[in-house]
Amino acid sequence: MTIDKFSDLKITADGSERAYVDPLHLKTVWFNIGTRCNLTCENCYIESSPTNDELVYINDSEVKIFLNEIQKDFTHVQLIGLTGGEPFLNPSIMKIIESVLSTGLDILVLTNAFKAVERHLDKLSELTKLYQDKLHIRISLDHYTKELHEKERGEKTFERTLQNIQKLYNQKINISIAGRSLMSEKQNESKAHYHHLFQKMGVQLSEDKMVIFPEMDLNKSVPEITTACWDILKVSPSQQMCASERMIVKRKGQDNLTVLPCTLIAYDERFNMGHSLKEGNQRVYLCHKFCAQFCVLGGASCSAVK
Ligand code: SF4
Ligand code: SF4
Repeated sequence: MTIDKFSDLKITADGSERAYVDPLHLKTVWFNIGTRCNLTCENCYIESSPTNDELVYINDSEVKIFLNEIQKDFTHVQLIGLTGGEPFLNPSIMKIIESVLSTGLDILVLTNAFKAVERHLDKLSELTKLYQDKLHIRISLDHYTKELHEKERGEKTFERTLQNIQKLYNQKINISIAGRSLMSEKQNESKAHYHHLFQKMGVQLSEDKMVIFPEMDLNKSVPEITTACWDILKVSPSQQMCASERMIVKRKGQDNLTVLPCTLIAYDERFNMGHSLKEGNQRVYLCHKFCAQFCVLGGASCSAVK
C-alpha cells in the first residue's frame, strides 16, 4: 500500500519512522489572537486576509486562563508572543498586552504596522514608560524597496508602514524589524540595505533588532523528515520551536481554545494538543510540509515568517 507524503502521523511515504520532537521546558507561549488582517499578502503562510476568521479573536479573559496556568505550572516561560493576522485589529489587544505585562512576563507583538497600530500609539508609549523593554513590537517589512514590498503587500502600504515605524521609534517603544531577503539576494547585502533605509530615517537599530528571513517558496516540494535525518543533517529536535514553544488559538465555532505546537501550523487539526498547556505537553510528530520546509531544512523559527 502506498501512502501520500505527510499523511501518516508516524510513518513517512517510504515507510520510515517519522521524526518527532519531545517537549523540553516551555519557554514561549504564543497566542494567535485572530487571523483577520488588513492586508492580503501573496505569500502569507497563514492565509490571513480581511475575511479570514478561521481563528477568531481571543479576548483578555481567555488569555488570563493561560497566564494563570503558566504562573502555576510552567514557571520557565519567559515570553508571551501575540501574532495573527494583524494583532492590532483585535478589539482586546491592549487589555491583553496589559494583562501579560502585569504578570512580569515579557511580551512580543508581531505587526505589519500598517494603519491598525496607529490608534494605539499613545497607550503603547504609556506602557513602555511603565514596563520599558518588556514590551517589544516586531514589525514585518517585506522588502527595503517600495516596489517589492508593495508587490507582496499591496499598493500604498510601504510609506505608511515606514511612517508608523518612525512614530513607534520616536515614542521610544522597543521595536525590531523582520525583513525578508529574496532568493536572488544575499542575506548580508539585504541586511545592509535595510540598515541604510533606517539610517536615512534616523531610526537607529542595533544588529539584534533586525532579523532577515529567507524568502520561502510555499509551492516547492520538500522531503519528509525521518528519525535518521537528525544525524545526517546535524540538526537536533531540541532546536525546533515545538520543543519549547506552544501556540494557542480559538477555532471558529468552538468555545474552547486549542493548544498547537507552534505558530506555523494553524489549521491542521492533527496537531491539536488539547485545551491546556498541561495537555499540550506531549510529543509532536513532524507530519506537515512546513516542518521540513521552514524548520528542519529551512532553519526558520516561529515568529519568522509572518
Ligand atoms: S503576512 Fe502578515 S501582514 Fe501579510 S496577510 Fe499575512 S498576517 Fe497579514
Ligand atoms: S512546523 Fe516546525 S515547529 Fe511546527 S511542528 Fe513542525 S517542526 Fe515543529
